[in-house]
Amino acid sequence: MILEGATVVTMDQQRSEYPAGHVVVEGNRITVVGPGPSDRDGDRVDVSGCLITPGFVNTHHHLYQWVTRGLAVDSTLFGWLTALYPVWGGIDADIVRTAATGSLVWLARSGCTTSTDHHYVFPRDGGDVFGAEIEAASRVGLRFHPTRGSMDLGQSKGGLPPDRVVEDRDEILVATQAAIDKYHDPSPDAMVRVAVAPCSPFSVTPELLTEAAALARRSGVLLHTHLAETLDEEEFCREKFGCTPIEYMERLGWLGPDVWFAHAVHLSDDAIRTMASTGTGVAHCPSSNARLGAGICRSADLYRAGVRIGLGVDGAASNEASSLLEEVRHAVLFARARGGPEELAVRDAVEMATMGGARVLRREAEIGSLEPGKLADLAVWRLDGLGHVDVVDPVAALVLGAPPPLELLLVNGRPVVEKDRVVTVDETDLAAEVAAASKTLLTRAGVTL
Ligand SMILES: [Zn+2]
Repeated sequence: MILEGATVVTMDQQRSEYPAGHVVVEGNRITVVGPGPSDRDGDRVDVSGCLITPGFVNTHHHLYQWVTRGLAVDSTLFGWLTALYPVWGGIDADIVRTAATGSLVWLARSGCTTSTDHHYVFPRDGGDVFGAEIEAASRVGLRFHPTRGSMDLGQSKGGLPPDRVVEDRDEILVATQAAIDKYHDPSPDAMVRVAVAPCSPFSVTPELLTEAAALARRSGVLLHTHLAETLDEEEFCREKFGCTPIEYMERLGWLGPDVWFAHAVHLSDDAIRTMASTGTGVAHCPSSNARLGAGICRSADLYRAGVRIGLGVDGAASNEASSLLEEVRHAVLFARARGGPEELAVRDAVEMATMGGARVLRREAEIGSLEPGKLADLAVWRLDGLGHVDVVDPVAALVLGAPPPLELLLVNGRPVVEKDRVVTVDETDLAAEVAAASKTLLTRAGVTL
């Protein structure tokens, strides 16, 4: 396939851009990127009036939450969690399959080609919920990095979640190893890679964090958790462990180039230096942080310090929009609202969504930029309609303008979106399935609306 006539923003090391360039895709790889028309033979697609970017990488999500949106809409994080845990306790494999399909379809429509998921609720009689979301990703066609999450610190032991949604530590470790053995693919063009992700300092024990890190490192997979999201969490850590969340993680061996944290909102200068010197990554989720009033991440300080930083939509229950393109826009706006007009450039935010996310997932050699040899994960945005046609900088049109139609989304060389519609799943049927799953779950939890 030869895409030509569009502005091409490569996000390569020189940040090369071609005002009327071309991208050649052969099989699942990009083979040529350059200015002007291509001199190759092949299936030519005229995409004039469009902008081609690398596909976006979503570094934090909870896909199952797609069917629990719009609850506790005016609460703090701890209040919101306390309201939602009992609802989440009723999920099962069928509900998760439907919810994950909904989340991933919606992400694809916002330019996302690779997504993580942080799944940490495993009801005893819920079936194979982890396998269900992998099935969903394969059906939608996105590259997928599910993380096997966990909670073992229930209310009776001083944690936040109710006891009936937490698991036993030994069971967690066995199930986590089994998920890695069954699904993790270390090969360079992998569509599925697994990581290990105990939920947060206030829902897991230090013993689980330590043993989970050892397991992940033995298995050669990455580590992920929520950290430094709210001041309540900082207070919890100071009270219980006598230190900040980052110091707590340092103590447990949880910093390093194989670790990334969701949020990292409340960080001191020292904590930022520690993150940079240890190579620890961040999933910046501006919309969710604002929705829960958690604060504004020091994303530009992290970026300037050389911390690996990507963007995430976070779970749909704390970000009903779940649009990764919207996170790019919010990354710029929130950074500037916090630190002034020159705090974060438009192209820096696009880098966070592309190469930044690839670095967070340690896939910078394979995805994140448009370069020969990389996997064919790309987004083609239509910018010749009323909303964007006169915005002279096409990258600003994408980031600062209204969300443009997505002309084409390729993942591993295969079309997932064409002309702003997902082509792998029927959205009308899916909407009906989502509504039914949400109703079943809320009824199960006794929520009356
Ligand atoms: Zn989260």
